Order: sequence, then C-alpha cells, then structure tokens
Amino acid sequence: MTVSRSRSPPVTVITDKKSFRKAIPILASDRARLPKLLAKLTPVQRRWTETAGFEGAANTHTIVPDEQGGAAMVLAGVRDADDVWALANLPLKLPAGRYELGKGPLTIPADNAAFSWALGSYKFAKYRKSGRVPAELQVEDSTKVVLALQCAEAQRLVRDLVNTPTEDMGPEHLANAAREQARQFGGKYREWVGEQLLAENFPAIHAVGRAAAPDRQPRLIEITWGNPKNPKLAVVGKGVCFDTGGLDIKGAEGMRLMKKDMGGAAHALALARLIMQRKLPIRLHMLIPAVENNISSNSYRPGDVIKTRAGHHIEIHNTDAEGRVVLCDALAYAVEQKPKTIIDFATLTGAARVALGPELPALFCNDDKLAARFEKAALTLEDPMWRMPLWRNYRRFFDSDIADFTNSGRGGFAGAITAALFLDYFVPSEVSWAHFDVYSWNDVSRPGRPLGGEMQGLRAVLASIS
Ligand SMILES: [Zn+2]
Repeated sequence: MTVSRSRSPPVTVITDKKSFRKAIPILASDRARLPKLLAKLTPVQRRWTETAGFEGAANTHTIVPDEQGGAAMVLAGVRDADDVWALANLPLKLPAGRYELGKGPLTIPADNAAFSWALGSYKFAKYRKSGRVPAELQVEDSTKVVLALQCAEAQRLVRDLVNTPTEDMGPEHLANAAREQARQFGGKYREWVGEQLLAENFPAIHAVGRAAAPDRQPRLIEITWGNPKNPKLAVVGKGVCFDTGGLDIKGAEGMRLMKKDMGGAAHALALARLIMQRKLPIRLHMLIPAVENNISSNSYRPGDVIKTRAGHHIEIHNTDAEGRVVLCDALAYAVEQKPKTIIDFATLTGAARVALGPELPALFCNDDKLAARFEKAALTLEDPMWRMPLWRNYRRFFDSDIADFTNSGRGGFAGAITAALFLDYFVPSEVSWAHFDVYSWNDVSRPGRPLGGEMQGLRAVLASIS
C-alpha cells in the first residue's frame, strides 16, 4: 500500500514489496546503547560519529559514510523502542532517497516506524510550494502497518481540514468532504441546509448559523453506514467553521485561530473514515452541525430564548458559547436513533486548555468502563487525554430566570465541566456517552507534529471501539 494525498506532499512509506529497492539502513539507538552500536563500526566510521557529535539523543541523527564517501547507514537517536514518534524527525531531514529499518540496538516496530514516518513527512502545502520531497521508507507490510498508515492518513486529513482557512472551509466545504468520504466507502449521505433546518426541527443549529452569508448557510451533515443490526455508534463533531463569538464578539487575539473551531468535525470525519475503511462491526451514525458563528442584523442575541430539538428552552447568556448550542440538536437527533454509544469531539472551551493545556484533550464520560478503555489505550498508544468529572452539582450555574436553563455557566468557574454538563442535558443516562474537548492544534512544532491543526485522542478511541 502506498498512501498519497494531493494537498500535502505524498506520504512516502512504501510497503509493496515489488517496489522495494536498495535502501540505506536506519539503525536506532538511545544514549545508553550507543557504545554497543559504535563497536560494530569501522574505526573511521566511529571517528566520524564523534566528529558529527552524535550521542544517541532522541530526535538526532547522523549519516555514516562508507569507504567511498557514500551513505553506509543512518544512526538515529530514539527515546526508547516504544516511541510512536521514533522516526518522525527523519523524512524531512534526511536527503531524499530510500531508507529501511536496519538492525540497531533498539528495535523499532514496523508500525511505529511507518506511522512516525508518514506524519514526519507532513507539511500543509495547499497555498505554497512544499519545498523538498520527503525521504522514503520501505517497510514490510503487515496488519499493524496497514492500521498505522490508515491512522496516519486520518491524522493528515484532520490537519488538512483544520489548516485550511475558513474562506475555503465553510459549512459547504465540510459537507463536500463528508459527501466524498461517504461515496468512497459506501456510506449514505444526507444534509439539511438553511431553512430546511427549521422545517425539520433543528432550530438551535439554525439560530447560531443564520447570520452567515447566503452561500455559507448552516447545515447538519449526516453519514450512516454499516449493518443496521450492529451496535449503533453515533459520532458527532462540532463544525463551527469560523467563530467570531457572534454579538458577544471575540477580541482579535481570541479570534485569530478560529478557523480551527471545526476541529471536532474534522475528528468526526476522520473517525468515521477509519470505521468505514476498516469495516468495523458497527452501525455508524456520523453527525456534523456545520455553521459560521457570524455577525449580521439577524444574528441570535444575548438574552434570546431558543427552543431546541429536544424541547428545552435555552436562554442565550453568551453568543460565544455557540458550539454546545449547535451540538445539542445533533445530540438530540442522535439519541432518537437509539444508539448504544455516542462519542463527540468539539473544540468547546478555553477552560479545558487552561486546565490541561494544548496536548491533553479533556474527556468527559458517563460510563466508567468506556472511559477506562479510552484511558488505557491513550497510554499505550501515546495518544494522551485526561478524564474530568461530570460534576452535576454545577448545573446550578445554568439557572435561568425565564427559560429551562442558559447556554453558559455564570461566574466563569469550571468552564470545561459546565460545557460538558450542558451537553449532558441532551444525552439520557442509558446511552454510553463520551465527550472530548479537544484543542485540535499544535502550538509548537515537535517531530512529526508541526505547528497547526492536529488530531487528538482519536487513535485511542479507535483502538477502544475496534
Ligand atoms: Zn464560541
């Protein structure tokens, strides 16, 4: 299998044996095992390693020459044999050419090698020439390698969707991406757009998105797939393609990255893709409420009361707490289909970032067993998350004088928890439900994880439901 996508440079992991050719071996080591590795080299090569200052530190490397001055091997410093990002630093640093895993003191599993290489090759190149071509890695195909490359492909998809500016990633663009994915894997696609949302009783999605331009009308995007007899899983993603904050407008700094407020939708699409691609024994129901939270004379207002699909009246305390408002109609619709499990992803609150920072999605879950599975997979797969409490006493923060409850907690305490509690109103306790408050963004570049859009927690979720 050779994976390539048109937008970014091709993923250069080759697993088709017929395409294998002579390749430069990569020998992995940590600091402690380096002497063992050096002992196998010629004196000149050892001397070269010293000259190059290679000490086996993670994410460093050196090319060791043969007697003719060609490349004999690459020595790669790796944290340890379990590092899922083991080779991520190499594809864009090594000279273009073909490489393979060699026998070093550390054995890098082929799936981690493939995964880290595929993501180490990623650059978002839609709007400029991507520069150099990444180096290629050839690894033997296996079930695990296929999974690793499918996960990497999903991760590149999330990054592409999130990195694309709003002008090219509005509600309609998201819909097109979903429609194309449904077509590719035999899912059934459906959508409700603009006034249809009112006619079919999705009033909250319409209220948030109605102020957007006529060609950027709010919509609900749906993919259904799989044998109806299989356990039903609803996957829901917040698709706020841009969040100005609405009439409670954000400041310039808070608005700057708001093209990424559809990160939850990108996660939902990626998870749906993996479920369909891997033909999991699941009845999939994917939903994305896609809107632009914009400003116009018909914007929804602070103090307005909106009737939701589930029948609750909510008083809008703050128009910038719009994600939960569009999600509540999607959740209500998901619940009507009687799913066993609902998983939602949303770039929902700044409070989750204050609590956990950019690298840890906040997990809220009404099912301890499901949460435990997620947390275990998160550790094993280096796809971290942190569980936070659905502390229902804080429902008092939503007290409204004129409606059933408000859309954002008063007082500003526990913002990530109260956002999750708002969603909790719409999911009955007999449905297993997990809510991920994700950042969907890398604030800094690390090997394999460049600054920009990011997929978080999803590999762990996939492993838990497979
Ligand atoms: Zn907002």
